[in-house]
Amino acid sequence: MIRYALVCDHHHEFDAWFGASGDYDDQVARGLVECPRCNSQQVKKQIMAPAVTGTKSQKTLPTETAMPPEARAMMMEVMGKVRDYVQTNFEDVGDNFAREARNIHDGVSEERGIYGQATPKEVRELVEDGVPIAPLPLPIRSKAKLN
Ligand SMILES: [Zn+2]
Repeated sequence: MIRYALVCDHHHEFDAWFGASGDYDDQVARGLVECPRCNSQQVKKQIMAPAVTGTKSQKTLPTETAMPPEARAMMMEVMGKVRDYVQTNFEDVGDNFAREARNIHDGVSEERGIYGQATPKEVRELVEDGVPIAPLPLPIRSKAKLN
């Protein structure tokens, strides 16, 4: 049995049970489905809003694998642009990133955008000390490393 939430042309909402999804179309076509309040045969299925709350929705949260290919491609493009922007406008400080970020934060070094490498330990210490840093969305190839 399938339950459909139906609505008539007078906006009366009611439920109806059908043996199978095909039965609904068949019975509506033959005028067998009536609104219980006004007997109108002009009925249609209500648009059901997808559930977005509750524990069940946690299983359907968007993940990387569930992401449509177009969205993924768009995301990669945006992340690539961020990387390109950083690479063009920020100074590459290579392995000195942690020290330089701290110096800028402390006002010892000139304030500017920098990028480079940091160990997980360095990153943790910077975050703990309130130094504003952010991981790059895509790996960046340090110019210093190329030489
Ligand atoms: Zn009605």
